[in-house]
Amino acid sequence: MSLLQPTPTHFIQQIIEEDLAAQRCSTVHTRFPPEPNGYLHLGHAKSICLNFGLAKAYQGSCNLRFDDTNPVNEEPIYVASIQDDVRWLGFQWSGPVHYASDHFEALYHYAVALINQGVAYVDELTPEAIRHYRGTLTEAGKNSPYRDRPRAENLRLFEQMRAGEFAEGSACLRARIDMASPFMVLRDPVLYRIKQATHHQTGECWPIYPMYDFAHPICDALEQITHSLCTLEFQDNRRLYDWILDHLTIAHRPRQYEFSRLNVAYTVLSKRKLQQLVLEQVVTGWDDPRMPTLSGLRRRGYPAAALRDFCSRIGVTKQENLVELSLLESCVRDHLNQHAPRAMAVLDPLKLIIENLPLAHQEILSIANHPQQSALGERQVPFGRELYIERTDFQESADKHYKRLVLGGRVRLRHAYVITAHRVEKAANGEISAVYCHYDPETLGQNPAEGKARGVIHWVAAAQAVPATFNLYDRLFTVANPAAEEAWLTTINPDSLKQCQGFVELALQQASPEQPYQFERLGYFCRDQHATEQSALVFNRTIELRDVWQKKGP
Ligand code: ATP
Ligand code: MG
Repeated sequence: MSLLQPTPTHFIQQIIEEDLAAQRCSTVHTRFPPEPNGYLHLGHAKSICLNFGLAKAYQGSCNLRFDDTNPVNEEPIYVASIQDDVRWLGFQWSGPVHYASDHFEALYHYAVALINQGVAYVDELTPEAIRHYRGTLTEAGKNSPYRDRPRAENLRLFEQMRAGEFAEGSACLRARIDMASPFMVLRDPVLYRIKQATHHQTGECWPIYPMYDFAHPICDALEQITHSLCTLEFQDNRRLYDWILDHLTIAHRPRQYEFSRLNVAYTVLSKRKLQQLVLEQVVTGWDDPRMPTLSGLRRRGYPAAALRDFCSRIGVTKQENLVELSLLESCVRDHLNQHAPRAMAVLDPLKLIIENLPLAHQEILSIANHPQQSALGERQVPFGRELYIERTDFQESADKHYKRLVLGGRVRLRHAYVITAHRVEKAANGEISAVYCHYDPETLGQNPAEGKARGVIHWVAAAQAVPATFNLYDRLFTVANPAAEEAWLTTINPDSLKQCQGFVELALQQASPEQPYQFERLGYFCRDQHATEQSALVFNRTIELRDVWQKKGP
């Protein structure tokens, strides 16, 4: 074992260390095997970080392999989005993209090899009968009447299946293992089924498709995978994985290991459920910023580095649990606090007029983009007689706990001067339409003679303010574990999106969706990817500055 290798931090790393030390393998070769039937989500991020992370840590390789054995739900759009998401998360697969379908011809011949050994047969029971014959956890299964067919007949029938001579559901190829096995997966599992479907990679070439359980171990062996990592629900399937490789002659022998799935509170991590949210228009699409998909989180402004940090903090175990959303959020805040430039925006604007400034007053303030990171530089921010402030930052009168602007009170305008409010103007409906104040010209970067102002509020200069729409997101579900609810769709949070119209400072007109900002006192935001024309400046709130949910409660 090389001294350069990291100390094992989880059980899979420990297994790898032992395999390397005992020379059971000389290199680490993993794979990430998504089925292209949906977009990747946070759970996949865990698997990606694990598989690509191990390859990186041990200077090995990691393949991206599409497990495309079920053409019915698979689409090229998912093939493309999955590649984008893996790269966005910061990983690059070794060599070309692999597809299980690259091996369809080889897989067919391995199936023939099993028939030749007398351990696979063509079954003509209906799918319902197969299910019925399989038995239950407490009751042994029954042999199919087709189980003892002569080898030659099986070979001929399987060839006919491949030639497209059978209708869907009228025949399948099964392994001949043990209908009384305590492991259901070993009760003569189906290896091939008939599907009259066009495949996104192989077109109309194949009327039969291998099952995942048959294709996976063989693809792993052919791609010389050393450690095949999957989630715990495949624990029993490992017996079939090994059975298949035991019965075939392939030089390389991979091993399967299982770890627990990631579950995150207040969301669902199942492609089927996520797809339902899209189809039922609960969200606007797979990349809606409220979705736990990688494309949704990215559009919301979650940095890839924060997701990697989250995956390393949750670790890899065999323990099933529900990870607090606040853990993910604190990774996002930590990262953004450090890296996001600051800027000012007003979500619910109220006009503030500084009466002791001339109408045409124009001033440019140089403001640091980050309080600690001087490398992020400074920007020029216009300041003038008319500003917008947040409506919630002013009250005509308030008790002493209110640290913002009140009539007769003083407050500092962030990065600018101290002001004193002295009168308001109201619209016919009684709503305040403007606040009039005086500023103290001696207070730029200095405390006034009469002592520090009691609060600081943010602002945007009205003359240069750029109108913007803000999307304010909240969690998508009202219960911690929606997947555990039978009627999980009824637990949707009706207030998961609020929109408001306000202003941002001039510099943000050119903001790129990849650049997160901290809007001072409001939270972290990024420009929406889908609305980048100048006429429609839209910002998505990535996250609030502090964990307000704890206070607010569900
Ligand atoms: P879903 O249940 O969302 O459909 P899946 O397991 O069917 O997920 P795949 O495309 O087959 O989705 O997954 C590719 C890889 O990602 C698999 O190795 C799978 O084990 C892993 N994976 C999927 N969901 C999670 C999760 N929640 N936590 C950890 N790994 C996951
Ligand atoms: Mg799957």
